[in-house]
Amino acid sequence: MVDYADILESIRQEVQPLLTQGKVADYIPPLAEVDPSQFAMAVRLVDGSEYSAGAADHAFSIQSVSKVFRLAQAMDIHGDDLWKRVGREASGTAFNSLLQLEADNGKPRNPMISSGALVVMDAILERGLADPGIVFIARCLDDEAVPFDAGVADAELATTHRNRALAHLLKAYGNLNNDPEAVIAAHTRESAVTLSCVELCRAATFLATRGETAGGQRVLATRQVKRLNAVMLTCGVYDEAGDYAYRVGLPAKSGVGGGVIAVMPGLLTVAVWSPGLNPRGNSLAGTKALELFTTMTGVSVF
Ligand code: GLU
Repeated sequence: MVDYADILESIRQEVQPLLTQGKVADYIPPLAEVDPSQFAMAVRLVDGSEYSAGAADHAFSIQSVSKVFRLAQAMDIHGDDLWKRVGREASGTAFNSLLQLEADNGKPRNPMISSGALVVMDAILERGLADPGIVFIARCLDDEAVPFDAGVADAELATTHRNRALAHLLKAYGNLNNDPEAVIAAHTRESAVTLSCVELCRAATFLATRGETAGGQRVLATRQVKRLNAVMLTCGVYDEAGDYAYRVGLPAKSGVGGGVIAVMPGLLTVAVWSPGLNPRGNSLAGTKALELFTTMTGVSVF
C-alpha cells in the first residue's frame, strides 16, 4: 500500500535545495515578481482521496497548463477535423518558435506549443462563448467558478508581441478564422487562470477517469481522452518531452508559471508547482519532484 502523504512530504524536503536554482519566467512582468522558493504538490486518486504537501492550496498562474483543457474542448467540438489544422508531433524547438511555423507552412507542429494553442483557441471560439476556455475548465471542476488574474492577463496582452506575430502568421496562412487580436485576448485570459495544485488535480481528473469529472459529469469521450494523454506525453513539456518520458514516465503538461499536471490513467492525477524554471521552461524543482514521485511510488505508464 503506497503511503502518498509520507512520500509527498519526503519529496518536499528533498527538493528544498533546488528551489533557489530555477529562474522565474520574466517575459510576462507579474510572473517575474513571484517568489521562486515556493513549492506545492498534490495527488488525487480516482477514488476521490487527496494528498498534498507544501502550499497546495495556494493559487498560481496556470499559464500553458490551460492548453490541456483547451485541447480537450476542441477535440470534443471538432473531433478528427481538428487535426487538419494542427499536427501532433513533438516540436523539438522552443514553444514559441516562429521559424518552425514558417517551415511547417502555417500548420503548427502540435497543440501544446504557442502556435498550435492559438489555432485550438481559434477553433473553440467558433462556439461563440465569451470565455470558452475558462468555461470548460469550470465544467471540469463541476461548475465551480474559475478565477483568473486580470493583472497577469493585461500585462501579457500588453507585451505579447511574439504571440501576435504567430497569430498573424497563422492568419496569413489561412489557418486562423477569427481576428488575431480576439484569439490573443482569449488565449491570454485563459493562461491567466489561477488554480492551486489541489484544484488542478481535481480539474484534470477526467484524464484519469476516461473522461469524467470528480462529480461524475462526462466532459470528453473515452477515445478522445486516450488521444489527449498521448499528445501530452509526446508534446506536453516543450522540447523536453523525451527527457520527461524517461525521467518521469507520465503524460504531463507544464506552464511558465511553474505548474505541471501529470496523469496516470485509471489511477491518479498529480500536480506540482514551483515557479523557478529550468532552461527549457519547465519547473526545475517540479520536474525533480515528479521524477521522485514516480520512482518512489512505482506509478508510471511504462
Ligand atoms: N501565456 C503564455 C504564453 O503564451 C503561456 C506560455 C507557457 O506557459 O508555456 O506565452
